[in-house]
Amino acid sequence: MRIEAGVATHVGQVRTGNEDAYLLEPPLYAVADGMGGHRGGEVASQLALTTIAESFRKGAEPFADQVRAANRAVFERSGADRAVAGMGTTLTAAVIQGDVAHLVHVGDSRAYLLRAGSLRQLTDDHTLVNRMVKAGEITPAEAEVHPNRNVLVRALGTEADVPLDERDVGLLDGDRLLLCSDGLTGMLTEDQIQAILASTQGAPQEAADRLVLAANRAGGVDNITVVVLDVLPDDGAEEAAGAPAAEAETQAAKEEPQRPGRTPGARRRWWRVAIIVGIVVVALGAAFTGARALIDTRWYVGVADGHVAIYQGIPADVFGFELSHVVEETDISASAAEALPVYSGLAGGINVDSRADADARVEQIRTDVRRAAHAGTGGQP
Ligand code: MN
Repeated sequence: MRIEAGVATHVGQVRTGNEDAYLLEPPLYAVADGMGGHRGGEVASQLALTTIAESFRKGAEPFADQVRAANRAVFERSGADRAVAGMGTTLTAAVIQGDVAHLVHVGDSRAYLLRAGSLRQLTDDHTLVNRMVKAGEITPAEAEVHPNRNVLVRALGTEADVPLDERDVGLLDGDRLLLCSDGLTGMLTEDQIQAILASTQGAPQEAADRLVLAANRAGGVDNITVVVLDVLPDDGAEEAAGAPAAEAETQAAKEEPQRPGRTPGARRRWWRVAIIVGIVVVALGAAFTGARALIDTRWYVGVADGHVAIYQGIPADVFGFELSHVVEETDISASAAEALPVYSGLAGGINVDSRADADARVEQIRTDVRRAAHAGTGGQP
C-alpha cells in the first residue's frame, strides 16, 4: 500500500500566533501543539518535531526512544532559557510501515481512523477532564464545557521523562488516518469531522482544507492543524484485496484494556491480569498526575536567590517533594520588598490567581519598593 497525504494549519480567528506544528517526513507523520506562552509554545512544538525528524532520518533507535530524546531536548531548553521556561507540547505521531501504523501519543492532539465511512478515535486525551470522565466524576458532555478542559496531565518537555502511549493499528486499503490538534476537535463534533472526511474520499488535501475551514467557521478559537493520510493500494501490487494482517489490531498502550471480541481465548487470562495491574497503575498515576495538574494551575509570588520571583504551584512540599517551581526570577531585591510591612510574608509566598496576576503583583512590588527607596533617601515620592 502507499500513502497520500494532505495537510493544513491555520492560526484560527482569535490567536495572534500559531503554536501548532506538523511533520510530513514519510513514513513519519506528526502534529504537535505547543504551550507555555506565545514564544514557548512555538519553540516547544517546533523543537520537538525537528529533533524527532533529525533522529528519524538517522534511523537506528526505536521510534519511541527518539520521542523520549525530543522530550529531553524540550525539557532542557525550557530549563536553560527563562523566556521559554515551563513550555511543553503535545505530540501525536504515526510511523507507517507496511500495513501497520505505529502511533506514539502524548497530550490532547488526536489520531482518528476513518474506515468504511465511520470514524474511530485511536488516541486517549491526557487531560484532567478525560481522567474525570473515566473516573465517572463528570459526563463527556460536562467535559466539553468544563473550565479546565484544556489542562493537560501529560505533555512533552515539561518533565525529564514522560510516559508515552504507543499503539499499532493495522491498515486496510481505503482507510483514512487523521492527525489533528485540539483546535479542530474543540470546534467540530466527531459527526461533523466524519462527514467532511467521508465526503472528500480520494482527495486528502481537500479534506484537510475543508476541516480547517469548518473549524474556522465554527469560531476558530485555537490554532488548527490537520494531517490527512489516505491508504491506497500499491499500483500493480499483488495484495490489492487487503492484507490478512490488517484485521489484527495490536496495541502496546499500557493504559487501555483490549477491546473485547478480538482476543483469542488463550490470551484472555493474560489480559485479565494485565487489566487489573493496569487499573492499579492508572489509579495511582491519576492520583499523582491529577494532583499535579491541579497544582500547576496555581501561582504565587515568593523569593528565589534573594530576588522576588514568580512560582507555579503551591508554596509547600510533601515528603520532600517540592510542589512548585520558579517560573521567573525578577531583579527586585527580596530583602527590600520584605522591609515593607505589606510584603513581610513574601518568603512564605503570596498567592495570586493567575500568571497575569503574578506579573501585576510583581510590578506593584517594584513600584512600592522604588517609592520606599525614594522616600527613605528623601527623594521624590
Ligand atoms: Mn491547541
